[in-house]
Amino acid sequence: MPFIKSNVHTHTAFCDGKDSVEDMALAAIAAGFDTLGFSFHSYTPFDTSYCIRDYPAYIRELTRVKQTYADRISILGGVELDLFGERPPHSDFVIGSVHYLKEGENFYPVDESPQKLKRVIDGVYSGDPYAAVRAFYAQVATLPRAIAPDIYGHFDLITVFNKGGAFFDEWDARYISAALSAADCLPKGAVVEVNLGRLFKGTGGIYPSPWLVRELVARGCRFMLSSDAHCTQALGYMFDEVCRKLNSLGVKSLVRYHGAALEEVEL
Ligand SMILES: [Zn+2]
Ligand SMILES: [Zn+2]
Repeated sequence: MPFIKSNVHTHTAFCDGKDSVEDMALAAIAAGFDTLGFSFHSYTPFDTSYCIRDYPAYIRELTRVKQTYADRISILGGVELDLFGERPPHSDFVIGSVHYLKEGENFYPVDESPQKLKRVIDGVYSGDPYAAVRAFYAQVATLPRAIAPDIYGHFDLITVFNKGGAFFDEWDARYISAALSAADCLPKGAVVEVNLGRLFKGTGGIYPSPWLVRELVARGCRFMLSSDAHCTQALGYMFDEVCRKLNSLGVKSLVRYHGAALEEVEL
């Protein structure tokens, strides 16, 4: 198995992460990474509970850490740009993600809590989870035009609390067709992250689900491992196991950042 040694989906205490920029960099160095990309949550004026708050201070600290450890690791400054978030003036890469369902002028978070998601389905979608599923994937389908990200973030985040089919049946034709219509909108060669954040938390499997990985392979997508790390321990967690799993799903290679360059790694 290749040693991927790179992760560019990394949060810090400047948004909703637990650890500092420096501690994340030191953990990546200790894990033998050659590249670490930071991806703060873009500013979302309608919900400031988890997004970046002090952007100038963040950039100052990122620049300091990048310079301090330049001889040991390549540090990139990217962003996890929400579909409805504000694009920063500069970023080394953009992860495009959908975290909210937008109905009229209102934004409803998908991944805040199961209770909140249930209230949204009941109150906004008349109790029909597949209506929420369709709304979610309709928004994912707009990412290529709205953001044109370098990397597509957690493609099926709508399943975040769906362990055991708690909200909907992922084998129901209504779920499958909604997900596939978004998959059909991805440009050829799109880089889709294989997000291990939920795996680390122990609340479910990878995003995208294995069946969706196969569908994305068939559509010519490329894949990048991503810790979606909110603490130091999450960096690189289960990368080897997931490489093996992806290989069994027909993924022949992964892409990764090696410094600022995107390179392909055979599986
Ligand atoms: Zn996200
Ligand atoms: Zn994230």
